Amino acid sequence: MEFNYNSNEALKKNYEKISNELSKIGAVFYSHGWVMGTSGNLSAVVSEDPLILAITGSGLDKGYLEQNQIILIDQNENVLHGKYKPSAETALHITLVKEISCRAVFHIHSPWSTVLSKIHEKNGGLWIEGYEMLKALDGIKTHEHREWLPILQNSQDMDALSQELKEVLRNSPRAHGFMLSGHGLYAWGKSTQEAKRHVEGLEFLLEVLGRTESLNTR
Ligand SMILES: [Zn+2]
Repeated sequence: MEFNYNSNEALKKNYEKISNELSKIGAVFYSHGWVMGTSGNLSAVVSEDPLILAITGSGLDKGYLEQNQIILIDQNENVLHGKYKPSAETALHITLVKEISCRAVFHIHSPWSTVLSKIHEKNGGLWIEGYEMLKALDGIKTHEHREWLPILQNSQDMDALSQELKEVLRNSPRAHGFMLSGHGLYAWGKSTQEAKRHVEGLEFLLEVLGRTESLNTR
C-alpha cells in the first residue's frame, strides 16, 4: 500500500502525540536506571489499519529521546518515516501488537529483571502473589491474585524468539508481561500510560521478590 506521511494529517497528529509520550516515558525509565547504555525500546500503535507503529530507533539513548529518533514502521519492519534503523527487537513488538490487544509495548533492561529471569529461567517463569502492587496490573482487583510472569531463553534470533513468544502468549493469555533470561522485561498495555503502569508495577514486584530472596539466603 502506498504510504505518504506528509499527506496524512491524522497520522501526523497521532505520531506527534505518541512520540512526545514515548520521549517522556524513556526519560522516566532512564531516571530509574532501567534503560542504561542505550538499552531497551518503546513502541506504540499510531494506526491500526494499516498497522503502523512508532518505535524508538536502534542504539539511541532512551533518557534523551528527540522526536526524530522515534520512527514509524509497518508490520514488516519497513521504515515509513524517519532516518534511524528500528530497534533490534522490533519483531517482538510487532508480534505482541498482532497477537494480543495491546497498543503500547515497553522493554527495559533493569537489574532486577535481569537477575530474577536468570535465576528462574529453569521454571519457564515465576509466580508473583500476595502483594498489593499486583493491583497495578489491568483487571487485578486484589492482592490475592497469582500472576505468572513467563521467562523465555534469550536469543539473538528474533524470528525464533517471535515464534516462541507466540506460543507463550497462547499458553498464558492473561500475562501482563514476560522476561528474557539474563536480559530484561517486556510489558504492554492498551495505552502508553497503561503499559508504563505495567512496567512500573512488575518492576516493583520483581525488586520486592529479589530483595526477599536475597534476605532469605543470607
Ligand atoms: Zn533488550
